[in-house]
Amino acid sequence: MPLIIPVDSDFSIHNLPFGVFSLGEGEKRIGIAVGEHIFDLTHAVEKGWFSNISKETVQTGSLNALIGQGKEITGNIRKTIQSAVKNGTDLSAYLLLQSDVRMHLPVKVGDYTDFYSSEEHAKNVGKLYRDPENALMPNWKHLPVAYHGRSSSIIVSGTSVKRPSGQIKTTEMERPVFGPTRALDFELETGFIIGKNNSMGSPVSTSEASEYIFGMVLLNDWSARDIQKWEYVPLGPFLGKNFATSISPWVVTYEALQPFNVAGPIQQPKVLPYLEFEGDKNIDINLQVNINGTTVSRSNFKYMYWNMEQQVAHHTINGCPLRIGDLMGSGTISGKDENALGSLLEMTHGGKKHVELDDGSQRKFLEDGDEVVISGFCEKEGIRVGFGEVRGQII
Ligand code: MN
Repeated sequence: MPLIIPVDSDFSIHNLPFGVFSLGEGEKRIGIAVGEHIFDLTHAVEKGWFSNISKETVQTGSLNALIGQGKEITGNIRKTIQSAVKNGTDLSAYLLLQSDVRMHLPVKVGDYTDFYSSEEHAKNVGKLYRDPENALMPNWKHLPVAYHGRSSSIIVSGTSVKRPSGQIKTTEMERPVFGPTRALDFELETGFIIGKNNSMGSPVSTSEASEYIFGMVLLNDWSARDIQKWEYVPLGPFLGKNFATSISPWVVTYEALQPFNVAGPIQQPKVLPYLEFEGDKNIDINLQVNINGTTVSRSNFKYMYWNMEQQVAHHTINGCPLRIGDLMGSGTISGKDENALGSLLEMTHGGKKHVELDDGSQRKFLEDGDEVVISGFCEKEGIRVGFGEVRGQII
C-alpha cells in the first residue's frame, strides 16, 4: 500500500526529520517523520536495513550515537527512505501513526548555549532594560552575544512548565521580595543541534561549520522577566531563564533546509575575518506564535543578524569544544514589524500595554493555564519543509 503524504504536511519527502519516540511507556526508538507517519528506523536497522549502522547505534534512546556516525550515514538514511516512498515500496511493517506515539527529547543535550542574534530583539530589549538612545551594546555588531544555559531543564514539546518563583525587585521597591514571577514570558527561537565534535583548542571556521550543524528545532526560551531584570547585571541570565526551555521533537536536517537559504542583513561594520562567510546563510523559515489559539506573532528566521555558521565559528574561536548533541539557541527572533515580535516583553513594551486574545481576555504576561504553541515551516515552489510545533502550558 503506497504511503500518502498530505500536500500541506510539514513532513514531506523533502524533509524527513529525525526524532525519538515510544509506544506508551515502551522503549525509546529512533524514527523519521513521513507525513502523518513515522518510519521506525530502530526496527528497520534491527531487521537488517542499513548494514553500515549497528543495532546499538539506534537503541540508545537518543539521536547522539546516530548523528555521530556522520552526515554521510544520516544523509543516506534520508535518501533511502525518500526513494522507497517515491517508488511505492511497501513500508507498512515499519510505519506507525504519529498520533499513536509519544515523542521524547531527540538528543541527550550536553551543553546549551543561547545566542542573542536578532538586532530588532536586542534593540527592543535594550530600550526597555537600559538606555533607549544606546539600545545596542557596543559589542553587539562585532560578535554574536550569547550566554551558557542549562541542559538539565530542556524539555520536549508537550511538557508543562511550572511557574517559577524568585527574587523580584521593581524600581519602586526599596528591597527585593520573594514570590512567583508576575512576568512570565515566552521567547520565539529556533535551535540547532551539534552533529560533530571539535577537539579542544581547535576552532571551527564559518566554512567548516555546516559539517558541525546536524539540524534545527523550534525552541521556546521561557523567561521570567521580573526575576531576569533584577538578577542579570553583570553576568547575564540565570534563574529567570534556566527553569525551562522547550524544544520541538523533530530535528530538521541542515541539508533539508538548504533550498530555503537567503541572504541575511548586511553586516556593518565589517566583521573580523574569523566571522566572515561566503554564500547565503540565512534561512527563510516562517514562524508563528499562538497563545490559547490566538496568533500573536508571525516572524521569520531570515531576519537574524548573525547566522548559525558565524555562531559556531565564534563559539569555538577560543578553542571551546562543542560536542555532539549540544544545543544552540538562536535568541529571540523579532522582525521590524510590530506583528513580528518574538516575546510578550516586546509586544507589551515591558507590560505597559496588553495583547488581546480571541476570547476577549488580555495579557501582559502569561497566566496559569495559558498554552503557547510555536510552529514553523519553509515553503518554496510547492516544496514544504516544516518543523511541526513546540507546545507548552503554564501550570
Ligand atoms: Mn533566549
